[in-house]
Amino acid sequence: MRIDIITVLPELIESPLNHSIVQRAKDKGLVEINLIQLRDFTSDKHRTVDDYPFGGGAGMVMKVEPVFKALEFLRSQREYDEIIYTSPDGEPLTQKVANELSGKKNIIILAGHYKGVDHRIRENLITREISIGDYVLSGGELPAAVITDAIVRLLPGAMSDEQSALFDSFQDDLLSPPVYTRPFDFNGWKVPDVLTSGNTAEIDEWRHQQSIERTRKLRPGLLDHLE
Ligand code: SAH
Repeated sequence: MRIDIITVLPELIESPLNHSIVQRAKDKGLVEINLIQLRDFTSDKHRTVDDYPFGGGAGMVMKVEPVFKALEFLRSQREYDEIIYTSPDGEPLTQKVANELSGKKNIIILAGHYKGVDHRIRENLITREISIGDYVLSGGELPAAVITDAIVRLLPGAMSDEQSALFDSFQDDLLSPPVYTRPFDFNGWKVPDVLTSGNTAEIDEWRHQQSIERTRKLRPGLLDHLE
């Protein structure tokens, strides 16, 4: 898989993608992630990527030309399955969306900045718009890193225990059960007995019940489709 991220602030995206599971996936050759500086696609001395909004008002807007050029350049090299724009008004990022995107081959993520990108880019070139939640961030860099992380950890071989992604929260529309490690007794706070019983069937059953209980209590909406 290949993920190309177009941004004015690659530095902001670098670190989250250079550690842990994502770094390991890159090392194993499961994914190639490229950070593309939008300013490299400008032709003026100041490498301008923003301009004042038509109609007035506060803030700046990402210009059409550099984004268009960057997308044209990438698309001349290979075909892309999705060209994603990060936006608070996009489709909410869910596990389902991450699962779906992890099956693609080549993806571009355009990280918005300033007040956002000139709408003509969204109308004509973007194939999918994704929001990471109902709040507004200063730019699309962190959302791009979040989307990439959510996708890459799902690639087969990315996790040391390949099975573990399957048991994450939301994979069955259920939240994860609680987890514990040693010591068994910390100042009188004990681990549930069943987990040290050695009875795998009982442990699985306990975990499943905990998942259902926690989902019912914390995120009842996830169970709606079962009713
Ligand atoms: N004025 C815009 C927000 C601008 S924030 C609005 O109200 O919709 C600047 C950029 O940050 C956006 O263009 C977008 O790319 C990114 N961004 C901010 N919040 C985001 C979120 N919750 N999800 C995805 N991208 C977000």
